[in-house]
Amino acid sequence: MEQNKPRFRFAPSPTGGLHIGTARTALFNWLSARSMGGDLILRIEDTDLKRSTKEYEESIINDLKWLGLNWDEFYRQSERLNLYKSEAERLLKEGKAYMCFCSSERLEALKDKLISEGKPLGYDNKCRNLSEDEINDNLGKGIEYTIRFKVNPKEIKFNDLIRGEIKFSSEVISDFVLIKSDGTPSYNFAVVVDDNDMRITHVLRGEDHITNTARQIMLFESLGYKIPYFAHLSMILGKDGAKLSKRHGSTTITQFKEEGYLNEAIANYLSLLSWAPRDGEEIFYLNDILNKFKISDISKNPAIFDVDKLNWLNGNYIRKKANEELVELVLPFLIKENIIKSIDINEQASRNKIIKCVDAFKDKIKTLAEFPVYAKDFFSDKISYYDEDAINILKSDTSIKVINMFANKLTQISDSIKTIKDNTDNSNILTEDLAKEIINEVGSSLQAENIKGKLLYMPIRASLTGKVHGPDLPKVISILGKEECLKRINQTISFLNNNKI
Ligand code: GLU
Repeated sequence: MEQNKPRFRFAPSPTGGLHIGTARTALFNWLSARSMGGDLILRIEDTDLKRSTKEYEESIINDLKWLGLNWDEFYRQSERLNLYKSEAERLLKEGKAYMCFCSSERLEALKDKLISEGKPLGYDNKCRNLSEDEINDNLGKGIEYTIRFKVNPKEIKFNDLIRGEIKFSSEVISDFVLIKSDGTPSYNFAVVVDDNDMRITHVLRGEDHITNTARQIMLFESLGYKIPYFAHLSMILGKDGAKLSKRHGSTTITQFKEEGYLNEAIANYLSLLSWAPRDGEEIFYLNDILNKFKISDISKNPAIFDVDKLNWLNGNYIRKKANEELVELVLPFLIKENIIKSIDINEQASRNKIIKCVDAFKDKIKTLAEFPVYAKDFFSDKISYYDEDAINILKSDTSIKVINMFANKLTQISDSIKTIKDNTDNSNILTEDLAKEIINEVGSSLQAENIKGKLLYMPIRASLTGKVHGPDLPKVISILGKEECLKRINQTISFLNNNKI
């Protein structure tokens, strides 16, 4: 085994989905390990048996993979209980820990008393100096016990790789539990035993763990372990300066996925929370920053989660995608909105239509979930409603002329179009260029009547979509295809007649 190889770990508790803050911690561990040629360990901290679930573990692992992260070793704390027990017993033997027989009722009462006296919370060391007889007596009675660590007063210092020197006085820390009465380890104890056993060299985690670090350093020292480097990432705040929470919108990776964010965009955005490449680049794939990433460049200031910036990045990644790949990505969103049925997915005609829509809208959408909003009109077999502006345009005499002329030209070219059809593409091949030509022809035929520009475009658009806004008109025509264009024009004419417009 290589000696001095850096070893990082990411240690999520499977008591919920992968939160954006935890994902950022995972990502920074990955970036650090990979940029330093080190190892990354995924350690599932599932000793809280009541709150941990297999479903959350699976969802965390899926989301980490989705973000493009990988790891070299995998552990589950619930499978390592014997190790924690034997290390706690070693501390007991060495007189560095003791059995505590206090009942949870007594501890609750102690807590209430300290609160009412305005004193700092902590254990009052009642069991610290029990005699051997007292201990044996309690054990004989079958009284449950925890194993507590003896905190010795001293100053604890460490050099945080992001924040510099941090000092604690152990006076504020009272004797704490290492092994609970059910035999499971406390968080602080399991972490230290594991970080040593897994030969972790760098502990990189959220700043909410800074106070735990003091306890952990005491344990590292008492157990005779080598103390790793520590680095604590700042919190992620909302734009209002408050800690990121549900109130700010989505907070888990699964939610962002469901809202149509791309994994590349989320990974890119997370890496910019507290860090930025020195060259100022903002859009990059993770592999592109491995030679630029340094722990010492991580900022200790709180990171602000800016959803507008994430949307901007996401839009960029959407535009970078090839149309074929985007089709696959938008399919679940089209199905979810009932715009296409899953059985139609393999129909070439549906695919061609989606590809054309993707091409028409990829510049406009910021998330995949926005795609159905733009695309839905093109998938219904008729115009769902006419908006006021469209009706006003359709009212004018010249509009009727334009629409009729357009329908006429479309019908004329339809035969020649059919001859170019081939087997691989059974959609119509009314291309955007051809659509442009048809519009121009309508324009030249109506030139004498001075019908051009908006007078030409708007009625055609309104007759095909019932709206005055949308993608470029030739795109609209091409997406719909000739049959559907003609069907919609008929619908519009009937609509005008029926409503006496
Ligand atoms: N399991 C802890 C958490 O989810 C992380 C512990 C650590 O990184 O030391 O916050």
